[in-house]
Amino acid sequence: MSDCIFCRILAGEIPSTRLYEDDRVVAFLDVNPMAPGHALVVPRRHWTDLASVPAGAAASAEDLETRAALFEAVRLLSAAAVRAFGGGANLLQCTGVEGGQTVPHLHFHVIPRAPGGPVPPAFESGAARYASDAERDAVAARFRAAIEALRAEGR
Ligand code: AMP
Ligand code: ZN
Repeated sequence: MSDCIFCRILAGEIPSTRLYEDDRVVAFLDVNPMAPGHALVVPRRHWTDLASVPAGAAASAEDLETRAALFEAVRLLSAAAVRAFGGGANLLQCTGVEGGQTVPHLHFHVIPRAPGGPVPPAFESGAARYASDAERDAVAARFRAAIEALRAEGR
């Protein structure tokens, strides 16, 4: 028996309120909703977080199918949230403990936003303004270097 709570939910060992499932992805209601209809979209494959999703040559055909199915399910659940609750929707994805992740099995939160409904917790816009253009450019350069390094590694 897995000690991952989401693997256990997907296996049916722990109950959940399921909204959608296919061969590769399951969506169910979050037990601690930030708004009515708050859903979690979860791949059946146990990937810890987005940073550990196989990429490049390390990604098998099944990994690629799961990656595509995950985006498709996130799209479907978001469109359905808009249809069902008459407003908008937000995505939340927490990668890593520092990112606020509490369940180490990759998942996307789809949080419906009804008109006049609750606003999910968010970072404060502008809270981390750059002190100067040079600081902004240094942050961008650091980010771009990491992107280039990942691409050079084939992921
Ligand atoms: P995160 O902080 O992004 O890792 O989110 C994990 C989410 O899983 C939280 O919003 C929890 O409320 C939710 N959660 C934890 N256990 C369960 C469960 N048994 N069924 C449904 N949702 C759960
Ligand atoms: Zn798992």
